Amino acid sequence: MAESVFLAELSWSAFQDKVAKNVLVFVPLGATEQHGPHLAMNVDVVIPTAVCERVARNVGGLVAPTIAYGYKSQPRSGGGEAFPGTTSVDATTFALVLRDIIRSLGSDGIRRLVVLNGHFENSWPAVEGVDLGLRELRRDGISDMRVMRLEYWDFVQRSTLDRLFPEGFPGTELEHASLLETSLMLLLRPDLVDLAKVPDDGPAKFPTYDVYPTPEGFVPASGVLARAHGASAEKGEWLMRDHVDLITKAVRSEFGL
Ligand code: ZN
Ligand code: MN
Repeated sequence: MAESVFLAELSWSAFQDKVAKNVLVFVPLGATEQHGPHLAMNVDVVIPTAVCERVARNVGGLVAPTIAYGYKSQPRSGGGEAFPGTTSVDATTFALVLRDIIRSLGSDGIRRLVVLNGHFENSWPAVEGVDLGLRELRRDGISDMRVMRLEYWDFVQRSTLDRLFPEGFPGTELEHASLLETSLMLLLRPDLVDLAKVPDDGPAKFPTYDVYPTPEGFVPASGVLARAHGASAEKGEWLMRDHVDLITKAVRSEFGL
């Protein structure tokens, strides 16, 4: 069996050897969600998994299987649930899945965890999952598990954003299926991108509030919230380098590696 950075590609006994060495485990959080007509629906799985893989190689960690279903897509950050194929779980379900993974890894002896989020709507349900997981472990007498929780897109240099958006960064929420995600997918999985289908209907113009049920025409018909024109693998490389370098640095400093 080949050495792997992916936890599920190890035998249980090889995993046990790593646990004995206090291995750091990454848990990527994803979603199955529309990303416009030009991208596959696994963008929020592919990107955080790739970031975790690279950071784990840098710090000698392992990457647990990515949670491929996320908390419900919201109109102002992911287009919403109405798009065919977007397949989501309730916030409670999401939090409980993460809770159970943390409890299970904790009872196996894992003490250092990085929960790395790749889908905007997962953020608070992930906070809940971490809190419940640690609470259960404490009740089982395990109080020395340390968890770092983060969104990969926060780890980017101001100068990189300035280079990508000479006219100003539209903000993380609107960056759905747009320049950043499209560029990262061109770098990681160009086979899952069709640039000829990049739509022209964005950027979305949302009010600063939500409306339920979502009004007709609230979300651009394509599901793309800001422009994806100009995306390239090279830009994806600038972003990926920032994400991996800055997260590696943060993980090293937090866990004293
Ligand atoms: Zn996405
Ligand atoms: Mn998403």
